[in-house]
Amino acid sequence: MKRSGRSIYKALVRGLSLRVLSQLLVVALLSGYCLAAFASPNLYDFKIVEQDTLMLHFDLDSAEASADMFVLENPHRLVIDLPGATLGTELPTEVFANGTVKSIRSAQHGNAQQGSNKLRIVLDLRQAVSPTSQIVPRQGGQRLIVSMGVPSDAALRERAVASAPPPQTILRDVVIAIDAGHGGKDPGAIGRGNTHEKDVVLAIAIRLHNYLVPIQGIIPVLIRETDTYIDLRKRMDTARDANADIFVSIHADAFEGESTAHGSSVYALSMDGATSEAAAWLAKRENDSAALYGDVLLSGMEDGLAQTLLNLTQGNTMERSIEAGEDVLTELQSIGHVHKSRVEQAAFAVLKSPDMPSLLIETAFISNRTDEQKLNSADYQETLAAAIGRGLHTYLLRRAPEGTLLAAQRRETVPVSLPADR
Ligand SMILES: [Zn+2]
Repeated sequence: MKRSGRSIYKALVRGLSLRVLSQLLVVALLSGYCLAAFASPNLYDFKIVEQDTLMLHFDLDSAEASADMFVLENPHRLVIDLPGATLGTELPTEVFANGTVKSIRSAQHGNAQQGSNKLRIVLDLRQAVSPTSQIVPRQGGQRLIVSMGVPSDAALRERAVASAPPPQTILRDVVIAIDAGHGGKDPGAIGRGNTHEKDVVLAIAIRLHNYLVPIQGIIPVLIRETDTYIDLRKRMDTARDANADIFVSIHADAFEGESTAHGSSVYALSMDGATSEAAAWLAKRENDSAALYGDVLLSGMEDGLAQTLLNLTQGNTMERSIEAGEDVLTELQSIGHVHKSRVEQAAFAVLKSPDMPSLLIETAFISNRTDEQKLNSADYQETLAAAIGRGLHTYLLRRAPEGTLLAAQRRETVPVSLPADR
């Protein structure tokens, strides 16, 4: 091991301090510490040094300096006398707001002609100290090092930080973005009774929002609250700006030439197209509808890097989307007919979010007369909204991201199973 000049110096100081200390123990019992020699030293620098222990450094310009030191109580003080010395520097004059040293005073005592003069430095303290001292030769003089025998303020602060309880984690709410499909100039599908998809899905979206508001740990956010057209990219951006954890787009289905088709369907985002012919057809229709009204259909995503990133992250997001979709589908099954009994996957542009589980819910068939009537009924809108809300809540209780209130609740409610014979 290479020893630097500095560490050799440290070793010397350590050896010196042990020797000095053993001598001091005897001297201290009599009248304080006395560290030899006389001259007319000048105290030209003073420092409070915060290492592990609190230290004081007094730099004197004489090789012959000495010091006497003693402590006083009520209040705690440390007195350091430097025989023959004069003060050639400014000592701190402030009252320290905290820490061991409260303030520092100095005074010239005695008579220089009689050789009885000394520089007395008094430290007012907030706690008792058990000081030791050593004088270390240095270029142009000596340094009196006083170790206060108490941890430095910095060390105390570190210990306080180390032993402090971990900061209270602030649990965030899960954000659900609710997107009412279409809107404004884009009516969506139109029923035989002239029901516009954009109107009924907005009503259901608002009811879903109101269903979720009172649930602790969930913040629902409506992408649109009025009959306005928002392009698909803006819908995703709005959800992202709200830091949404899940995106739910509400629609109503339409089937040309098959008016008997009815009930709900749930779609999750797909990485590679549709899982069924119908899904492909529907994806085309919903996407065409957007294209018809000027959407860009996330075409910017098509460049190489974006697509790679999309594929990397969408795998997991897709699984989560399907899982959430299954929970919603289960609830929809409990209130009525579902058109497809499993979660379909389709390449809806609105679902192509690489980082957010996303669902598209076709609440009912607007092209079916009975479904159209239901979609217009406030009661049925409420029933649909509650079913979707329950499904989302179920999913989030299981899959809410760490750091959320729902995730914390999940941990607390892990059932403890006991053997049956106890
Ligand atoms: Zn639609």
